[in-house]
Amino acid sequence: MTRNSDLSPQTKAAQALHMLDRESGAVVPAMHSASTFARDENYELRDGFVYSRYGSPTTRQGEDVIAALEDADETLLFNSGMSATVAVVEALPVGAHVVAQSMMYHVGLNWLQRQAARGVIGLDAFEAGNLQALKAAIKPGKTKLVWIETPANGDWSVTDIVAAADMAHAAGAILMCDSTAAPPCTTRPLELGADISFHSATKYLNGHSDLTAGVLSARSALPVWEEIRNVRGFQGTTLPGFEAWLLIRGLRTLYIRYKTASDNAMQLAQHFEGADAIDCVLYPGLPSHAGHAIAARQMTGGYGGMMSLLVAGPKGRALAIAKACKVFIPATSLGGVESLIEHRMTVSGEGYGIPENLLRLSIGIEHVDDLIADLEQAIAQTA
Ligand SMILES: *Cc1c(COP(=O)(O)O)cnc(C)c1O
Repeated sequence: MTRNSDLSPQTKAAQALHMLDRESGAVVPAMHSASTFARDENYELRDGFVYSRYGSPTTRQGEDVIAALEDADETLLFNSGMSATVAVVEALPVGAHVVAQSMMYHVGLNWLQRQAARGVIGLDAFEAGNLQALKAAIKPGKTKLVWIETPANGDWSVTDIVAAADMAHAAGAILMCDSTAAPPCTTRPLELGADISFHSATKYLNGHSDLTAGVLSARSALPVWEEIRNVRGFQGTTLPGFEAWLLIRGLRTLYIRYKTASDNAMQLAQHFEGADAIDCVLYPGLPSHAGHAIAARQMTGGYGGMMSLLVAGPKGRALAIAKACKVFIPATSLGGVESLIEHRMTVSGEGYGIPENLLRLSIGIEHVDDLIADLEQAIAQTA
């Protein structure tokens, strides 16, 4: 498809693959919302579309754009990130052994733990970013799926994708990389050996906090792929046309949004590193971060807008800072143009390894001076 085109991915994104409307010449693709598709005079399908639970034209266009950015042969859009990851595990043989991080997106972990409790899968967790622990958790011949998230929710620990892929493959498993915090403008997991690249497209790929979507991408001939597609068709979790249309619009500005967020985040991280009110700034772009060296190798287009602050002082201060912000919005989610602050333990609950004093920031594209000043005034109010 688009893998051999020599245009840069940034150009492909900005032009949404130069998709002009065939009939009108419109530079924006039409939005198709039909649930069903007429056959031609020979009773043949026209473009392969039957019924929108299995896919539809606007959704396919969104998949084509993301496939080009990921350098993938196959891309499937789902109606949420969670429904995409559910489909991967549903597609595994019953009883398959899965290895995942003990600190990762908490709802994904919660769902894996429930599947394990029901006996649908075997599950072993390893400390995020620790390759020795990953190796020890993998059971050669039994492990079917290794699920990493990098940088990972919580402390933004970084996992070496090349090394994790080698370990998974040596044991006969596939590697799925949750690259939500590192979209294809900075990391392309398939090029680094991952078998499945996953994103919550709700986040950076869309970037405007106005839809939920999930996406899986792979190179050709991945044995589990057809079953993943089947699961999506059975569950009816295909992304609908309107959301796909919005997502295509969001993808056009991915590169500049991510660059601005990365620049802002780096300045903010440097500003607060060493501040009296902050014990630690957890940001992969800082040389002090444990995963910085690997991040420098595999996040080639910036370190993104995600960071956590460990707040100094008495219990309750982190939550008080989140409440005192006026520019940062006190909401969960990430990767939008607006900056968000969340007291992560309140959102995820206890039991996911999140310290009480952790504030998770999603840095947007506002003027960085306003963001720094807002945090400074919130900190001063709680001093
Ligand atoms: C949000 C998120 C998900 C889940 O995606 P939804 O679109 O909310 O279903 C998975 N992984 C990460 C890292 C996320 O941030």
